[in-house]
Amino acid sequence: MLRLFKRAKGPKPVPEAELARRLTASGYRCACCDTVLDAAYAVRLRPFGWAQPPAQQPDSAIEGTGDVITDHYARRGRDVLVRAHLPIPVRDTDDHVFLGVWANLSTGDFARFRSAQARGDADRLGDLAAWLYARIPASSGPVLNKGVIVPVAGGAMPVFWITDPKHPLHAAQQDGGMAASDIVALYEDLGAGDILSHLRA
Ligand SMILES: [Zn+2]
Repeated sequence: MLRLFKRAKGPKPVPEAELARRLTASGYRCACCDTVLDAAYAVRLRPFGWAQPPAQQPDSAIEGTGDVITDHYARRGRDVLVRAHLPIPVRDTDDHVFLGVWANLSTGDFARFRSAQARGDADRLGDLAAWLYARIPASSGPVLNKGVIVPVAGGAMPVFWITDPKHPLHAAQQDGGMAASDIVALYEDLGAGDILSHLRA
């Protein structure tokens, strides 16, 4: 009978420092099954409120009309979106994880950004005002929070910084970061649960 009251013995929790290493290592090889992960980039969110977006197309498809998702851009109704990395510092390390998010730009900035991106010199544009077009955390997060798109040289994925202090990730992004175990919990909330078993093995 006593057994009923015994706590189920789960696997031993991975220490924070090791979890942080697994989250940020490029090509981390899972100890139990040899799966290779880039866990820092494992979260790729859909544009907010778009439960069943059309299949992803090459970037040239953005030139057409109607709702479309391409490798780096999207258009939904009147909203034009760019894919971006939202960095979160991993506490007690010099590393970050990068959530794959969407950001809404003005039509003018969207056009300027795409031309500059094609030339590889989008970094010369400086910061562009943008709205975070993703709900983080998935369950309770606000939507359309203010931020900036920071373009990166060489056509690389731009970075999104939250500037709205009311956003739950604002403090973590600006200073201090998040503990590795909290990032793993956020990953789970954002639907990247399939990689967690490897990180926790
Ligand atoms: Zn594994």
